[in-house]
Amino acid sequence: MTKLGRIAAALGAGTILASPLTAQTNWDSVEVTAEEVAPGIAVLFGRGGNIGVSHGEDATLIIDDQYAPLSEKIEAAIEGLGASPVRYVVNTHWHGDHTGGNEHFGETGATIFAHDNVRIRLAEPQQRGERTIGPSPKEALPVVTYPQGMRFHLNGDTINLMYFGGGHTDGDSVVFWEEDNIVHMGDLYFKIPGFPFIDVASGGNVHNAMRTLDLVIMMIDDETKVIPGHGPMSNKAELAAYRAMIGEAVTRVEASREEGNSLEETIAARLLDDFERGEGFIDADGFVTAIWNSDS
Ligand SMILES: [Zn+2]
Repeated sequence: MTKLGRIAAALGAGTILASPLTAQTNWDSVEVTAEEVAPGIAVLFGRGGNIGVSHGEDATLIIDDQYAPLSEKIEAAIEGLGASPVRYVVNTHWHGDHTGGNEHFGETGATIFAHDNVRIRLAEPQQRGERTIGPSPKEALPVVTYPQGMRFHLNGDTINLMYFGGGHTDGDSVVFWEEDNIVHMGDLYFKIPGFPFIDVASGGNVHNAMRTLDLVIMMIDDETKVIPGHGPMSNKAELAAYRAMIGEAVTRVEASREEGNSLEETIAARLLDDFERGEGFIDADGFVTAIWNSDS
């Protein structure tokens, strides 16, 4: 297999965190823990995307729901917060490590909300290399979808679901609590080792990701609590540094292209080796390829 073929295969295998992990993960050993971010607002960490929780006098809303085998642990963690059962679910995007619990929560009476393209991708089989993902059962599909955004008036806050053009996929919502000044970034922000994940096969695009990040950074302040899609709690300064890192990578890759280099030559030039991002889900080759394949 050529180097590019290997990269394509690796990206295809890695694109959906859900399935390769589902086969191997011992779900019994996964712990779902809760961290209170503000009164009535928490983040649940387990396996998969971070779950935002709003609870209080009105209803419980969660943002993303990790993997299906964790649904009962997620419910137990929510109960542990003193919250009522989940009434609303928001999906930041369609990936299986953020929507795996949809079927369970849909069946137990929650209403699922997401950008239009999340429902479209969940409802249709998605081909990634040799793997076919989905379609999801009806109960797992968002019931309310939107092209730009919407607002929940809930638990004493205004919770904005905002679509700024995506970037990680073509259906990324950013969720912003106005009063409590908290933002959930979905996978537009990975605070874990490795490089950002731009899922070009799902309509992701590094230029859209940068635009979305710029708009969020303009909207928030130094007090804002930032929930990344993966990894521990963060803040505006770290988010801005992440955005700047992406910009620098794009500048280097595009300069290489303008010099007439091929993608293979650009990868071989190891342009991002000094970034020191550690080993993660997406390596430098995968990120360079995604930048290369993003239409500007
Ligand atoms: Zn994702």
